[in-house]
Amino acid sequence: MRIAIIGGGAAGMITAYLLDQVHEITVFERQPLLGGNIRTLGGNVDCPALPPGVALDCGVIEFSPEHFVKLHRLFADLGVETRPVPAATGFIQGDGRHYLSLGKLATSRMPLRRRVAATLRLLGLGPALARFRRRAARADPEALYDTSLGDFLRDTRARGLGLGLGATREAAFHEWLRLLLVYAYSIPRAEIDATPATMTIPTLLRFTGDVSWTSVVGGIYRYIAAITERLRGEVITGVDVEAIRRDADGVELRRRGAAPERFDKVVLAATPEQVLRLLTDPSDAERRRFAAWRGNDAVVQIHTDAGMYRRRGIVDYSEFDVFAAPPGYNAHLNRLCGLPSAAYGDPGAVDYHFSYNLESEVDPAALIHTQRHRTPGYTVAALASRPEIVATNGDNHTYFAGAWLGDGLHEGAVTSALAVSERLGGRLL
Ligand SMILES: Cc1cc2nc3c(=O)[nH]c(=O)nc-3n(C[C@H](O)[C@H](O)[C@H](O)COP(=O)(O)OP(=O)(O)OC[C@H]3O[C@@H](n4cnc5c(N)ncnc54)[C@H](O)[C@@H]3O)c2cc1C
Repeated sequence: MRIAIIGGGAAGMITAYLLDQVHEITVFERQPLLGGNIRTLGGNVDCPALPPGVALDCGVIEFSPEHFVKLHRLFADLGVETRPVPAATGFIQGDGRHYLSLGKLATSRMPLRRRVAATLRLLGLGPALARFRRRAARADPEALYDTSLGDFLRDTRARGLGLGLGATREAAFHEWLRLLLVYAYSIPRAEIDATPATMTIPTLLRFTGDVSWTSVVGGIYRYIAAITERLRGEVITGVDVEAIRRDADGVELRRRGAAPERFDKVVLAATPEQVLRLLTDPSDAERRRFAAWRGNDAVVQIHTDAGMYRRRGIVDYSEFDVFAAPPGYNAHLNRLCGLPSAAYGDPGAVDYHFSYNLESEVDPAALIHTQRHRTPGYTVAALASRPEIVATNGDNHTYFAGAWLGDGLHEGAVTSALAVSERLGGRLL
C-alpha cells in the first residue's frame, strides 16, 4: 500500500521504519529537520556556538531502561548505543531553601554539616513520599481517566495533620512532584493540576522510584539518523500538509504548492490538536474524539549561566533541578550528554544548561540557543477519548501515532508506532 505519514517526529519516523519493508511510505514533515522534539545540537540542529564534535541533547534526553523497554529494543535493532547516566533532581523553593534527592546528596560538595542537615530535611519528606507511592501504586490507570492530578494529590493528603509540620512537608513534596511534571511535559506550572492523573501518576511513580536512566551515545538524534539511512521510502521535510480527505478507496492529501496526492492509508503522527484542522471530512465520532485537544507551546533556552544557583548560594546542581519561583526547571546537561564538566572537576570544561521558564534568570550573554516545541496540552477532557481512538485506530483509512497515545514520552511514541504497524502488517520489534 501507499502510506502517507504526517509528522517526522519519533512516532512518525518509527512508524515509517516499521512499515517500510512492507509498504511504500512517504513521510511529510513540516519543519526543515526531522525528529520533532528530538533536538541534538550538533546533530539535527546546527549550533555554531558549540565546539565541533560536541553533541548536546536539549529536547528529548533520557530514558529508563526498566520502563522504556520497547524503545531500548528499537535502539538494539538499530545498533544505537546507550550509556547509563546519573539523573538526580533537586527542588529549590521560593525562599531559596532547597531539597536534594538522595542520588545528589551522595556526591554533594557541601560541607559535612550542611549535608547532614540536607539529608535530615529530605528524610522529613519520607512519610509524604510513602503515602503518595502507596496510593499511586494501588491506583488503576483506567479508573484515573476521570481524575486530574490536582484531585489526586488533594485526596492523597494525610488527614488530621492540620497546619502542622507534616502538612508543610507534604505541601513541599507535592510541589516538587508538580514541578517534576513541568519538566517531564514542558507544561506551565499553572496547568499541571489539570493534567490527567492516568498519564501523570505513572510518570511520577517512576520518577520517585528506584529507576536507572540512559541516554544515547553521540546524541538522541543518532537513532533518527539510523532510521533515515535504512529507509527505502521517501522523506519530505519543510512541507506543511494542509488537508486530508478520505473516500471509499483511500486518502487524498493536499500540501501547499503541490497537486493533490493519493494514498491508500494515512498515519497522523502530528500533535492531536491538529487532527480536526487537517481532516476536511471528519465524522461525528472523530469530531467528538478530538474536539477537546489543544496544543501547548514551550520555549527552552540552552546556556552556560549557573547564576540561578550562585544567587541562591547553592553549590550542587542536579541533572534536573526544579524551581518554585519562577516555576520552571534547569537541566545540567554535561553528564547526561557524556561531556566533561567543570562542576565535576574537569578543568577547562564548559558547563551547559537547559532551562524552561527561567528566562529572567539567564544572562542573555550566556545564551547559546533558544528552541520552540509544540506539544499536546494534556487535560482530563482531551484524554477522555483516547481509549476510543486506540480502539478505532485505522477506521476511515486513518491511523494515529504519537506519544500522547501512551505515556506522553518516548515509550508512548514507540508503543503507538508498533500498534499502527501491527494493524498494517508491518514489522514488530
Ligand atoms: C523539551 C522537551 C523535552 C523532552 N524530553 C523527553 C525525554 O527526555 N524523554 C522522553 O521520553 N520524552 C521527552 N519529551 C517528550 C517527547 O515529546 C516525546 O518523547 C516524543 O519525542 C514525542 O514524539 P511524537 O512523534 O509523538 O511528537 P513530535 O515530536 O511532536 O512529532 C510530531 C511531528 O509532526 C510534525 N508536524 C506537525 N504538524 C504537521 C503538519 N501539518 N504537516 C507535517 N508535519 C507536521 C511536527 O513538526 C513534528 O516534527 C520531551 C519533550 C519536550 C518538549
